[in-house]
Amino acid sequence: TVRTRFAPSPTGYLHLGGARTALFSWAYVRHFGGTFILRIEDTDLERSTPEAVQAILDGMNWLGLQHDEGPFYQMKRMDRYREVIAQMLEAGTAYYCYSSPEEVEAMRERMRAAGEKPRYDGTWRPEPGKTLPAIPEGRKPVVRFKNPLDGDVTWDDMVKGTITISNRELDDLVIARPDGTPTYNFCVAVDDWDMEMTHVIRGDDHVNNTPRQINILRALGAPLPQYGHVPMILGADGEKLSKRHGAVSVMDYPAQGYLPEAMLNYLARLGWSHGDDEIFSMEQFCQWFDVDHLSKSPAQFNPEKLAWLNNHYIKQSDNARLEALVRPLMEQDGAQFDGAPNLQAVIALLKERANTINELAEAAMLFYRQPAPDPALIAQHITDAVKPALERFSVVCETVEWNKAALSAAMKEVLAAHKLKTPQLAMPLRLLVSGQLQTPSIDAVLELFGRETVLARLQKFIG
Ligand code: GLU
Repeated sequence: TVRTRFAPSPTGYLHLGGARTALFSWAYVRHFGGTFILRIEDTDLERSTPEAVQAILDGMNWLGLQHDEGPFYQMKRMDRYREVIAQMLEAGTAYYCYSSPEEVEAMRERMRAAGEKPRYDGTWRPEPGKTLPAIPEGRKPVVRFKNPLDGDVTWDDMVKGTITISNRELDDLVIARPDGTPTYNFCVAVDDWDMEMTHVIRGDDHVNNTPRQINILRALGAPLPQYGHVPMILGADGEKLSKRHGAVSVMDYPAQGYLPEAMLNYLARLGWSHGDDEIFSMEQFCQWFDVDHLSKSPAQFNPEKLAWLNNHYIKQSDNARLEALVRPLMEQDGAQFDGAPNLQAVIALLKERANTINELAEAAMLFYRQPAPDPALIAQHITDAVKPALERFSVVCETVEWNKAALSAAMKEVLAAHKLKTPQLAMPLRLLVSGQLQTPSIDAVLELFGRETVLARLQKFIG
């Protein structure tokens, strides 16, 4: 059965590229049935932080990308890595190297000068019949992997097709530092082996690591997973996605009012396609997902499209869910709910136009704060010609049946009686009742505010 993993390094927030890689790995497992593993690659002690681990867990949780095993932490597996290093030394697939960093730098310099690709020259590499130098006094060795000298490493990449790298391009990789701590590519190889990965789907910034990991896995006698390297996400300007392009941390999106299903749908379509389908559920995605339709070229992040999808999912959401998301934001903003319109009814009216939960909350505030119309706007919109019509409408409001259709009909009558055009009454009503000129359709707004509030606000002006 299929086993895939998401293996982030907790050196920063969970960014969009990482989330998309996780989504593809997760969908692959959900498509074929299998196990999705979360592994935290936290061996870079200088750059890894507990906050970043938490940010990754939060991001995965918000997106609903549940793992079946883990999270595993590499720092907790140190004993295991040391054990494998000892076994490799024993088996002769790795060796102690006593060259000092200065010596290694000097040999690289020589090779650069000779126009060769700089690499370790194999001074301490044991070969049959070769005598190794005397061990320098007091020097702690690194452990190097005995990379094959000839031949190629070839793999059939699930995304990019066949990739071949010559072993001559590959150094004898340091797998343990002088203090015995294991290095990055080695840990990944051991983990993928121990965790029985069948498929490794990751960003194509790792293509160069793959032949090294394959050689290590081969030396260990481990089965090879299938590799798939997903292209990067670029900003709209074609540059690698970064802070400059706005939010790159997944958890910035809920803070800005995005729904997880919009983000998932967006990421799913970013570099993967299913005909012209733009909108689909995760259930659908997992059914459809295949690596054949992953794009080989980088995807471009398009915030407008994400906003469009978010609007779609906001419209689809039931009003109770939206209320739970919107209400805390409005409370922060000083909303007064006492005696104000029903929030779910307001949401029903406004959600059509909201691209984010934050926009929806902002728009809904219209109904939950005391209007303070700008006197200059009042002077401009409520002219002497308009005032009698407003007075007339206010009288009608006392008895008219309180619903949108009846209010709309009442407005038409007053307009006709006073020979006015719709905005000449609608704008003053908006101003007086809500304090602003931009509102949804005025009959709907009046209906929601209710007779009492509308009359009170009109009469306050009319006197
Ligand atoms: N830890 C690596 C990263 O965050 C991913 C390693 C892998 O998927 O093999 O880029």
